[in-house]
Amino acid sequence: MLDPKPVHRHIDVHEEAYLADLIDLVRQPSISARDEGVTECAEILARQMENMGVKASILPTDGQPVVFGALPSKDPDAFTLLCYGHYDVQPPEPLERWDSPPFEPVVRDGRLFGRGTGDNKGQLLTHVMAASAWKAVHGDVPVNLKFIFDGEEESGSPNLETFVAKNRDLLAADLVLISDGTMHPSGAPLISLGNRGVIGITLKAQGADRDNHSGNKGGVAPNPAWMLIHVLAHTVDPSGKVLVEGFYDDVRAVTETDREIIERLPFDAESFGATMGLPRVTMPKEEYYRRIMLEPYFNINGLISGYTGPGSKTIIPSEAEARIDIRTVVDQRFDDLVEKLRAHIHALDPRVEMHVRGIGGMRPSRTPADHPAIPVIAGAVERARDREPFINLSSGGSLPNAVWPNTLGIPHVGIPYANADENNHSPNENLVLDCFYAGIHTSAEVFAALATARDRGTL
Ligand SMILES: [Zn+2]
Repeated sequence: MLDPKPVHRHIDVHEEAYLADLIDLVRQPSISARDEGVTECAEILARQMENMGVKASILPTDGQPVVFGALPSKDPDAFTLLCYGHYDVQPPEPLERWDSPPFEPVVRDGRLFGRGTGDNKGQLLTHVMAASAWKAVHGDVPVNLKFIFDGEEESGSPNLETFVAKNRDLLAADLVLISDGTMHPSGAPLISLGNRGVIGITLKAQGADRDNHSGNKGGVAPNPAWMLIHVLAHTVDPSGKVLVEGFYDDVRAVTETDREIIERLPFDAESFGATMGLPRVTMPKEEYYRRIMLEPYFNINGLISGYTGPGSKTIIPSEAEARIDIRTVVDQRFDDLVEKLRAHIHALDPRVEMHVRGIGGMRPSRTPADHPAIPVIAGAVERARDREPFINLSSGGSLPNAVWPNTLGIPHVGIPYANADENNHSPNENLVLDCFYAGIHTSAEVFAALATARDRGTL
């Protein structure tokens, strides 16, 4: 097995060159939301990858191109790792809130400021840089490396699934590694195994074709606000349990490994409460994490009906609307849930219409915590960072990761490298340089650990 130590030394002495590459990449705007500079950025990224010894190509999609790269190992039986990242960025507005222009990257207080530093240019480059360091030191890489860099993640990756489905052979791998998002606020490294999905729904109740006088017509004109309240109250109980028949059928049971991982996570009722604007979290730790990570949630994000202006207006409203987002978990299926919910609502009150927003939603995805790659990666992260990583069974939010298990049939693992205050999507986005360099070291160590596990037959 090749020795990672000289690779780490190589990374240490090349920090300046890595920073220069990151600055060049951030300087090029790549705002997918308004098609600004994205293809130019793809060209710079592909050129940088080539300069680092990775064979890179720019592959078209129906939207922004994918930058693909490959650096095979000389070992024909080597493990194959596919690194996913995105080179597009969020729009930088409001510009007046930036302390320095978003596309003129500058180092202040040990951080590089600029749009895309942490999300995700700095993080995607760590994998390429780690690969090039291995190649420079040993003339070889310990695992076969493939890179897929998306040009429209910040626009919801509308073409990723089609691209992946069309390029199964090109992308074939044993595991997908994603570095996006931030480490734990305590500074501890984090390993993320999944994310919830989301389905957007609008419920609409229609009464008369106009608002009516609540005295003159009260009791005879139908009130859509009541219809909607009745339906909602019979869809979710006060504890949050969804009453739709079969809603939980496909939810995976919590395993012993899941419980052990939750047990190791930090928990502080007061400070966790403070992040929500509450005095404290009132539920126990196990329930808190189980609810965010492993259970679906049926949310009302908006309720609209009647008169809500100053004074009073005694009307029976003509319509009522509820906006819903359902956070789903593996293995809940979009079509199945939509069908069950539609039948449930229709049975309660056929006058309440259900509309699904967006097509297909974002699907849930989660690599089982007892997958053999998890302890291997956790060990590598701990060696690289000198600190045991927290394992996040699933983030509560939604990401387009389901494409890896569903379309390619391979698991995914996330190791976020950015500082918790990276200000992604906000003004003054930044990446702490020590996090950037630590990310390169971590990727280098992960490659070595996967190779060793393959040699030993555990992967
Ligand atoms: Zn982002």
